[in-house]
Amino acid sequence: MNKIKSVLIANRGEIAVRIDKTLKKLGIKSYGIYSHADKKSIHTNIIGNCYLIKSQKKSSSPYLDIDQIITIAKKNKITAIHPGYGFLSENADFASRCEKEKIIFIGPSAHAIRLMGSKTSAKNTIEKINIPLIPGYFGKNQDIEFIKEKANKIGYPLLLKASHGGGGKGMRVIEKKSQLEKAFYEVKNESKMSFGNDEIMVEKYIDSPRHIEIQIIGDKHGNYISLNERDCSIQRRYQKIIEEAPSVHVDETLRNKMNLASILIARKIKYFGAGTLEYIVDKKNNFYFMEMNTRLQVEHSVTEMTTGVDIVELQIKIAEGQKLPVTQTEIYTKGHAIEARIYCEDPLKNYLPSIGILDRFKINKFENCRIDLGVKDKTFVGPSFDPMIAKVTAYGDTRLDSVNLLKKQLKNIFISGLETNINLLIKILGIDEYFVSNKKVITTKFLDENLNNIIFDLKELNIDIFAIYIFSRIRNSDLKNLSWQKNVNFQETFNISVFNQPYEFKVKYGLLNFEVIYGKIKKTYCIDETNDNPKLLLNNKELEFDFLESEKNLAIHYLGLSYNIPTSTENLIQVKKDSNIIYSPMPGLITNIMVKEGQEVKHGSELIKLSAMKMEHTISSESSGVVNIINCKIGDLVAEKDILLELKK
Ligand code: ADP
Ligand code: ADP
Ligand code: MG
Repeated sequence: MNKIKSVLIANRGEIAVRIDKTLKKLGIKSYGIYSHADKKSIHTNIIGNCYLIKSQKKSSSPYLDIDQIITIAKKNKITAIHPGYGFLSENADFASRCEKEKIIFIGPSAHAIRLMGSKTSAKNTIEKINIPLIPGYFGKNQDIEFIKEKANKIGYPLLLKASHGGGGKGMRVIEKKSQLEKAFYEVKNESKMSFGNDEIMVEKYIDSPRHIEIQIIGDKHGNYISLNERDCSIQRRYQKIIEEAPSVHVDETLRNKMNLASILIARKIKYFGAGTLEYIVDKKNNFYFMEMNTRLQVEHSVTEMTTGVDIVELQIKIAEGQKLPVTQTEIYTKGHAIEARIYCEDPLKNYLPSIGILDRFKINKFENCRIDLGVKDKTFVGPSFDPMIAKVTAYGDTRLDSVNLLKKQLKNIFISGLETNINLLIKILGIDEYFVSNKKVITTKFLDENLNNIIFDLKELNIDIFAIYIFSRIRNSDLKNLSWQKNVNFQETFNISVFNQPYEFKVKYGLLNFEVIYGKIKKTYCIDETNDNPKLLLNNKELEFDFLESEKNLAIHYLGLSYNIPTSTENLIQVKKDSNIIYSPMPGLITNIMVKEGQEVKHGSELIKLSAMKMEHTISSESSGVVNIINCKIGDLVAEKDILLELKK
């Protein structure tokens, strides 16, 4: 037994805050680290004893700086390091280095990370234990002719995957033979850039599967428990956005089989700590091992809420050398939990990250909801980190209860200053056949299949939003003076941005009313100011909405959706930008240019690929025309708002 007295949390954002919570509960002293950009971040604030990691190389994240992290731990005589997820959590060299320095690494052994860290070595290990694998080639030979031969044997469609990949990156579906060679080199390139290793593997592409994973925990004495499954089939770009436990379509037989297989794998590799076995489950309920994540997962909250187990607490006990305090028979799943990941990104623009200052984050928290928050007011959401800013997990007796609670909670969050995926999440949870009647099974294709409808819905903007915007302006100009009434019959034109789209509308003022004119639509709204709290009426009915004003933005909740409208002129300039000029939406690396000068393009044509925030983003044309000038080349590092390309009409 090696008592842990202090822990250095080598991470940032919501997960650093979450780990700190358990440390405080256990009375263990916590320390943290932060990068220059994170000086005022929520984790730096909450953890308290935080040390700056100076940036050494421009290309590498301070959170990956092993030497500086170890130095801080030693200087403060810290007993253990918790790596969280991402960053150093699956870095075997870091785990060995901790061991060498006599610091406890809260995670599995370096050996287990090495075995499971790369997808290929994991599959080669699992193959020997007779656990079903997705057919594929997981060897070292990377010769294209050899890969072609293997691909023919496996059969199309195929998936090319980076062996060392993660976070859904470095994956490409190949429909037919003729696409293989080009994609092979592209994926290799992408893998090299993202993971520093270009080894790839080939896998049979399973059509419309489900992603089901099993959370296991093992101690250093050979005891194991499974905390059952999580269903993580709702994904965008192979990355989870909504996860739940238990899975509606996993019955007791399948659950038992998957639990047994997972514990068998863990036992065979003498795994200790918390780990997740990820499987693909096909239509016939056959399951295939996909990969093992040798760390705490983002979505561990749903398991904690349904089993009552604090996974971080167990990780610490196991790292100390304690025996698991519970046995499998004492584990039971109760109720249902569902989690949604809130990302600062724009689902209407191909999930383009929304970066800048998050003006306000306000939440009215409901009972049975867990909020894991990585930001606060005025947090800078920068391009160097993952754009996930918060997780919301709702618990209920039944799945429907938890889904309804999650929807209600999401509708009660105000975020202003940046675009987020909250409306997308709310719309997803509102699709009846997947969440109420359960007539349809959610597969990993779910979002792709439903996204167009959702986007279409969101783009049909209700012009009541314009009226609410005007109402807030009138209210601010001191309604009691009714100065605006002097402007009766006065007409004004407004340019505002909603969902990052510019809108122009006119307002004609009357006596205690105003008319909003948008294209052919005209609606008259009345203001009822008979009491202190003025109301906005349409057809004599009060509009029910809620809004939050901040320095530079107006956040509105209306009919179950959230709207963020920039109100400062600085933000409005961006809105009016010329659609013939394509600006870089954020700092990044140009990875592909799909057009040539002189080429004709249409609205929606793909122009340029930009790699930023650990993802590749496609920049598409917002109008039709001819490419006049291309202002960048592949490999260029560009800054935000750099002109990349110009079109002419
Ligand atoms: P990562 O390390 O990025 O999490 P995974 O191997 O876990 O990579 O795969 C991520 C996602 O990609 C899965 O959840 C699943 O949706 C999809 N996927 C992976 N392999 C396959 C496959 N062979 N067939 C179909 N979908 C797959
Ligand atoms: P989970 O199953 O825990 O959700 P994800 O694959 O979504 O795992 O990754 C969790 C976090 O770690 C994400 O922020 C992701 O961007 C990051 N991440 C995962 N694998 C890697 C990797 N190999 N390199 C860099 N970041 C990674
Ligand atoms: Mg995975």
